[in-house]
Amino acid sequence: MIAYQPTAIDRSAANALDITWSDGLRLRYDAAKLRSACPCATCREKKSASDKPKKPMSLPVLSLAEAQPLGVSSMQPIGNYAYNIVFSDGHDSGIFTFEFLRELGSPQNND
Ligand SMILES: [Zn+2]
Repeated sequence: MIAYQPTAIDRSAANALDITWSDGLRLRYDAAKLRSACPCATCREKKSASDKPKKPMSLPVLSLAEAQPLGVSSMQPIGNYAYNIVFSDGHDSGIFTFEFLRELGSPQNND
């Protein structure tokens, strides 16, 4: 059962967006934070791999896309329970359920 639904999505900054929820709560989402929390299989695999001890030669090399400030390119609704978020680095396989998004957001104090 879905408790809350987004009623508005605003691009609040180049690298962040705000979602207003059906109960009136407005939460901020940093693109980099969303990207690092991406629940897709590829990202989960990467995360569990990074928990293992690193080999001495595995120096990560940033691609040009990764070196740019990350943004959200688009958000496509999936049914009435989730968004497929496309990031500016081209990553597009993350399905973020409303429930998950509620947990990820940072409350905004506008007053
Ligand atoms: Zn992912």
